[in-house]
Amino acid sequence: MSARPKKSFGQHFLHERRYIERIVSAISPRPTDFLVEIGPGEGALTFPLLTAAGKLTAIELDTDLIPHLQANSASVGELSIIHADVLKVDFTALAQRQGVSHLRIAGNLPYYISSPILFHCIDHAAAITDMHFMLQKEVVDRMAADPGSKVYGRLSVMLQLACRVEPLFDVPPGAFRPPPKVDSAVVRLVPLAAEARHDADPERVYAIVKAAFAQRRKTLGNALRQLMDADAIRLADVDPKARAETLAPEDFVRLAKVTTAS
Ligand code: SAM
Repeated sequence: MSARPKKSFGQHFLHERRYIERIVSAISPRPTDFLVEIGPGEGALTFPLLTAAGKLTAIELDTDLIPHLQANSASVGELSIIHADVLKVDFTALAQRQGVSHLRIAGNLPYYISSPILFHCIDHAAAITDMHFMLQKEVVDRMAADPGSKVYGRLSVMLQLACRVEPLFDVPPGAFRPPPKVDSAVVRLVPLAAEARHDADPERVYAIVKAAFAQRRKTLGNALRQLMDADAIRLADVDPKARAETLAPEDFVRLAKVTTAS
């Protein structure tokens, strides 16, 4: 199939075999896995994954791509297609419906909604074994950044509080049809075990991280003024004169806990 890729759906179809093979080998699918692919497109990853795992659930928003996926999967394995916006798919309920405790999620993501998809997935982290995503390289760099780095920010903190972030390899624009304007990279995300996850109110953590990085050149005392005062910041063992980019992810958890308790 060679449909005209739709810009509005963020369609950049992967065609270079060696990158397809590297992604499938990084995922290393097994027949016991419950695999979920976000945005199967024309099936570049779907068919090799299906061959290896025997079954796969794919979530695709573009109706026009579904007949091709259905027609070509019959001889390969058991493909279930959920025709929906991935942001509306409840992964925890999907795992429960399938009678499995965990899903393995993969996808060459539509870049126009990559951050909302990442946040949606981490909301369901407890029902996910791992995720392998193709994203803009710049986004992967932000996800994996350490405190002090120029690109360390909201995405780095929120992702690292939920998952181990492991950048795997870069993929050049020429590997896709049409080529995107940016470089891409594949990343593995492994949700933290229950005992390693923080126990602060997730909405409070998010509000603090968002406010802290919205004005990243300001001191925390100023940036968090609407949420907590300097004394509360000190109670969390954080210097109100520090800037958000110098704080480790756990520092934001402590800030969230102080305010929740008061
Ligand atoms: N996996 C294919 C590949 O590697 O060639 C296609 C990847 S393409 C970058 C992104 C895919 O996500 C497209 O098939 C697109 O139609 C689909 N998509 C876009 N927005 C979506 C959404 N909100 N929910 C589910 N799928 C979506």
